[in-house]
Parts: sequence; structure tokens; C-alpha cells
Amino acid sequence: MRIVRNTGKETVSLVEVPDCRPGPGEVVVQTAVSALCGSELHAYRAGTESSGNNGHEAAGTVIELGAGVESLRVGDRIGASAIAGCGRCPYCARGIFTWCDAWKYYANMHGERFVIAANACHRIEPDLPWDVAVLIAGDGLGVPYHTSKKLDRPGIRTVAVFGLGPIGLGNVLVQAHFGRRVLGVDVRPWRLDKALELGADAVLDAREGDPVERLREMTGGRGVDAAIEAAGRPETAHQCFAAVCKGGGVVFNGEQGGLELSPSDDFIRRDVWAVGSWFYHFHEFSEMLRLYRAGLRVQELVSHRFPFAQAAAAFREFAAGRTAKAILEYGDETACCAVS
Ligand SMILES: [Zn+2]
Ligand SMILES: [Zn+2]
Repeated sequence: MRIVRNTGKETVSLVEVPDCRPGPGEVVVQTAVSALCGSELHAYRAGTESSGNNGHEAAGTVIELGAGVESLRVGDRIGASAIAGCGRCPYCARGIFTWCDAWKYYANMHGERFVIAANACHRIEPDLPWDVAVLIAGDGLGVPYHTSKKLDRPGIRTVAVFGLGPIGLGNVLVQAHFGRRVLGVDVRPWRLDKALELGADAVLDAREGDPVERLREMTGGRGVDAAIEAAGRPETAHQCFAAVCKGGGVVFNGEQGGLELSPSDDFIRRDVWAVGSWFYHFHEFSEMLRLYRAGLRVQELVSHRFPFAQAAAAFREFAAGRTAKAILEYGDETACCAVS
């Protein structure tokens, strides 16, 4: 079988590796689609080669069962959660694998086959399109949806999204779907346009003046009710705190290191709250599926599809910030298209 290998300095190549085998409690999946994630870019840009890839969003068909697997059958269509729980602790019992002390991360999903824990598979119905399955089983929609649970509070009408990469755009889609007025901030015109398509009320190019000042102007001087930090940068994190109103909140999606915040100025004196939001809870899959069935335009997050053989081009376009969600397809290897 072939997989994508990170070969260092913004290159990937397809390499032939032995067919993967399932361990106890695991299954082998024939990949239908895999999606590129912003979190893979660190390894992509690194100067060193790795043995495989960090692909962790995929969907496909179960082709082999490991020992003890009873919850799945060969031929089942599944969407994979890259985070699997131990299956025995109180968090796992509640379907919260990301809180399990023994959670396990599965990668190497940019490949013709991949291994995944059976309990991290969402079985999907025959009519569910593969790209919807990969978005709601992976973090493409998972993170924005999980984030929306943090914002499920009264009085939140206006939400600013800082950083309009795939996760930021997912937040635009979900927050707009829930009827919020969404204001998007980024520096790339293509992404700003995409945010408008996905339901943003207005967008701001942060290169054209202070976004905080302009967000305050757009909210009658009051500030936004909530801000989502999806750029993973110190300056946008500070802008989130400066842009929210009294009593407003900040949700962190973008990973980053240390950040200097003032308990007095950023929190106490304005009753501001802040919270992190990581991946999604396994049990939230069914809620996302219901939203899709009820009309959430999940597929519009996908801007580009590439045949697996053109993975290098997919990574190039994705790393250059010229795509929303980019998907590798493992069927027909001749066609390639930008969706929009
Ligand atoms: Zn991801
Ligand atoms: Zn557990």
C-alpha cells in the first residue's frame, strides 16, 4: 500500500509500505477520503523527514478486524476519530475520549489504508457522502461544533472569528447557521471572500487598520459578545480580549505557547471569561450529523479535492493558504478540481 510521507522542507512524497495490520481492538480501513488539517503544517514545514504523515481525518470502509472487535463488520462505512479512548474510564463512558487519561492518537491516515481503534469509528449510513463523513468525524467540523457548545450561552449575538483558515471558516459556518452575526478577521483576501460565502455578515482585512477598532465601530462601540481565536497567534489572542464587550468571552481554538494576559485588565475589570476548546467529544458526532441532515452546509467547507496521487500539490496549495478544507480522494486518480 502507498502512504504520504513528510520528506521535509515543505515536501511530501508517496511511498510504498507494508500493508497495515490491526492490533487487538483495532480495524483496518480502506481509505475513501482524507482531509488536510492546519495542525499538520508544523511537520510539513520542518526540515526533517518523518516515517509517515500526520493525517488524522479520514473516512472509508472496514476491510479487516483485529482480535476482539465485535462492534464493526467488514464492509462497514466509517468516519474516524483520531482520538480513541481507553473505553473503560468514566470519561469514555460519557463519550469524551479527549478527557480520557489514556487516550491514543492515530495518524498516517493519508494512505490507501489505515489502522484505527474500533471504538473510535463512527459507523455511517450508506447515503452519507464521504466528504461529509470526514468533516464531521474529523476536526474539520468537530472543532467548530465543539466550540459552539462553549458559546451556548444567552446574550451572544455577535461573534468575531480571528483567523479564517479551515477551523476559523468552520466557526463562521456554524455560528452563522445558529443565527449569530459573524464578523471574520484575516489577512488573505481569498479567505475573507470564503467567509462571506459561508455566512459571515462582514469581514475585515487586518492589514487595513486596527481590527479591534473596526469591530467596536461595527458594534456601536460596545464590542463583540464573543471572539474565537483560530489563528494561534499572540497578537490575535490579545485582539480577541480587546474586541469583546463587558461580560464577553474568548474561546481558544488555535494552539500556541505562553501568552501574557492581565487578570485585572483582560478579565476582572470587565467580567470577561475565556475557555479552551480541543477537538470534539466523540458523542457529539450524532449531534453534528443531525445538524447536517437539518441543512448545515458542511460540504461548503471543502474548497479543493485532489486525487491521492497528487498529495504533493494538495499540500502545496493548503500550506500557501489558498484552500479552505482540502481533501484527498482515493478512487479516481485522474481528475483534479477546485470546487470553487
Ligand atoms: Zn486536525
Ligand atoms: Zn478512557
